[in-house]
Amino acid sequence: MATCPRCKRHLTDSHRCPRRPAVVAAEIAVAAVLGGFAGLLVVAIIDPSGQMANIDALSAIAGALIAVGMTRAFRS
Ligand SMILES: [Zn+2]
Repeated sequence: MATCPRCKRHLTDSHRCPRRPAVVAAEIAVAAVLGGFAGLLVVAIIDPSGQMANIDALSAIAGALIAVGMTRAFRS
């Protein structure tokens, strides 16, 4: 049976190389940052005058968590 040139495992039709932990961690970090910015952006759109106190940090965290969750769901 042929072996994968990258990970040396058996090269089946459904073969996918296992992802290195460092790469996965970097993707999660990027997703968290982008999600955080997206959360802030949403707040800027729905609350341009900043009337809702402390919602900036909350939405940034929520956006980061959602982005990380979506990334994990799509990768698995
Ligand atoms: Zn492989």
